[in-house]
Amino acid sequence: MNKPLPTFGRYLKRKFKSRVQKLPVGLSGFTCPNIDGTVAKGGCTFCSNESFSPNLAQNAKITLNLTSKKNPLLEQQLHELDTQIKQTQIAFKKRGIKKFLVYFQSFTNTYAPFSTLKILYEKALSYPDVVGLSIGTRSDSVCDEVYDYLAELSKTKEIWIEFGVQSIFDETLKKINRGHNAANAKEAILKAKAKGLNVCAHLIFGLPDETKEMMLQTAKEVYSWGIDSVKYHPLYVVKNTMLAKDLKSGKFTPISKEEYADVLKEAIKIKPEHIIIQRITAGIDDDTLLAPDWCGWSKNKMMAFLNKELNS
Ligand code: SF4
Repeated sequence: MNKPLPTFGRYLKRKFKSRVQKLPVGLSGFTCPNIDGTVAKGGCTFCSNESFSPNLAQNAKITLNLTSKKNPLLEQQLHELDTQIKQTQIAFKKRGIKKFLVYFQSFTNTYAPFSTLKILYEKALSYPDVVGLSIGTRSDSVCDEVYDYLAELSKTKEIWIEFGVQSIFDETLKKINRGHNAANAKEAILKAKAKGLNVCAHLIFGLPDETKEMMLQTAKEVYSWGIDSVKYHPLYVVKNTMLAKDLKSGKFTPISKEEYADVLKEAIKIKPEHIIIQRITAGIDDDTLLAPDWCGWSKNKMMAFLNKELNS
């Protein structure tokens, strides 16, 4: 595998003739139907949104959902958006990066009244040098109005929607308390594609009781749904999650770095060329990580290891 991977960075650079940096934002008031009790409570067994958005979790006294009539947090959200975009733009501009894609990352970013989403997305697009948006969400949380609106925006802006698919095996999705099945994920992706949106699917390798064959079956099946891009993640365990209990009791064994590299290599090998890779791994560099330890490695060390394995 010595050919350069078709990465998102390369795709954006080709399209915008300049490096484009994703700017992650997380706003107060957003939650997830798998946390607030609409679909389930407690969230996915591996999810601790505190691990990537501690301030949001502490401020979560008011949360929005699809039926919220009023949004008392709008001013605060606009202020947070402004601060986060400006601060990160300044930091990246110092490194010579001139164009940006605002990434609504934390929780479920279509799970709020349409009027709120419209204001926030349009505000994000109004900043100089912002070429588009990437919106992370769940397949059960996008209404037709939002699909149509994003489709309209995508006529002039770079618009991506990111769905956590994780696995095509419903028994696995149940084990991780995902709150939707594989058919729901497929339906949402097909719908987004029919509306002309760019779709990124997130896959997790190392889910409870999954074999390498199952992980590759998931990859192969999801590639066939017409996705434009993929993110591969290893499942890692952080404190204060259901998965942490399973780890402690011995019910869950994390994927080793060698197993992960092996399945990743195969998954990339069977991937159609046109599907862009947005991530080949993920990790967390703080003391909330419980296992596997290699998910706490620095980005450079992790990428050096995976690149060596992918090219071996
Ligand atoms: S869908 Fe995302 S935010 Fe919601 S519980 Fe699962 S991992 Fe957490």
